[in-house]
Amino acid sequence: MGREKKNFGRCALCLEYKTLRDSHIIPELWYAGLYNEDGYMNEVSVDVSKHPKRVRKGYHEYLLCQECEAIIQKYEDEAKRLRDGTGLFSQDVADNLAVIGGLDYSRFKLFQLSVLWRMGVSANPLFAAVSLGSDEEVLRQWVLHGNPGEVGDYGCAIGCHTYKGLHAKNWMIPPDRQPLIMPRSGREGWRYITIFGASAGSSGL
Ligand SMILES: [Zn+2]
Repeated sequence: MGREKKNFGRCALCLEYKTLRDSHIIPELWYAGLYNEDGYMNEVSVDVSKHPKRVRKGYHEYLLCQECEAIIQKYEDEAKRLRDGTGLFSQDVADNLAVIGGLDYSRFKLFQLSVLWRMGVSANPLFAAVSLGSDEEVLRQWVLHGNPGEVGDYGCAIGCHTYKGLHAKNWMIPPDRQPLIMPRSGREGWRYITIFGASAGSSGL
């Protein structure tokens, strides 16, 4: 009974009052390389007064209803293909650059936008740098209704970090917000950069 009450609330995506799932802000899949053999990862801070913390099962909170979890799962399944390489083809075009084909643009961009949006609505102080303002409602509608926008609308990029030639896949860094001026239009906005699991994602607003 008590547990049910705790889980009942307003879903951040569809805005309906329902039983909420303990939703991940960054999908669990991307934490895979971070856990040690005991199933924990270590959270450390540049603030030396904060003790390192053991974290299990990533960062999550009661956020989405089951139906909305299913919507986001479709986007995450597409991102999973990038990790697994399922049905993808890649062509090296430079030493550290490859063109990857075979991904569904809409679903993959919506995956990236859904992570940005979840960081924006999260109450976890780790994601406090993501402050979306009026864009939060636009992104909520897009994620809910499966609208990825045009390529330049909330443009997203994702890449792989390497260290000494190897995949640097066992760390994450919370999002950082930087001012951005678009080179051609001079339009001002924000760029968010975060590093998680085996990849780095950046989203511009
Ligand atoms: Zn919902």
